[in-house]
Amino acid sequence: MNHPTITRFSAIFLASLALVACGGGTDEDLDKRGSPTSVNTLPMEALSQAETDSLLYMREEEKLAGDVYTRMDALWGGSVPVFGNITHSEASHTEAVRQLLQRYGLPDPVADNAVGVFRNPDLQALYHQLVADGSVSLIAALQVGDRIEELDMLDINTHLARVDNQDIRVVYESLLRGSRNHLRAYHQTLLKQGGSYTPQYLSQAEFDAIVNSAMERG
Ligand code: MN
Ligand code: MN
Repeated sequence: MNHPTITRFSAIFLASLALVACGGGTDEDLDKRGSPTSVNTLPMEALSQAETDSLLYMREEEKLAGDVYTRMDALWGGSVPVFGNITHSEASHTEAVRQLLQRYGLPDPVADNAVGVFRNPDLQALYHQLVADGSVSLIAALQVGDRIEELDMLDINTHLARVDNQDIRVVYESLLRGSRNHLRAYHQTLLKQGGSYTPQYLSQAEFDAIVNSAMERG
């Protein structure tokens, strides 16, 4: 091992820690187990219809989070860095699902769709609603962040119950850890701004257990 390698590794490691410390939650949440490289070492198993449907949905649901945060960052990024930071993380999440679609030879529902454009009509409607809600104030935007992460966790858990292929499960578990970190980051920022939030999908106990625990690294 030579010194430049050690230095570079340390720099990346420290950069990740810095992101955790500032509550950004970006690259560290798609960990080694969920990275495309490690996923590609897992066997390709037969894909059920439920798994196909799940991948198509999850690709766009992760895009939805990233696209809403992109809009929120444009509106509120001058006051808080959290939307911009997490936008990058969502880009890695939707990309991880795209790579699974590619691995199984499925068409990508996103294709070259722009920010705010979705094939799934439910997600399209949800995008418009969330952007409208989050445009009212910074507090409202941070509440939208909490709500998206809550919804993502609910949906990923529902999908995990229908999916048994190891490669898909590894990616979904990684997306879940990412969402827990994002919820922590948004909620901490929300409280700091004097706001509050009532969970809409999780129980209060489940919500509190997540936001009161430490950031996760894979
Ligand atoms: Mn995500
Ligand atoms: Mn997220």
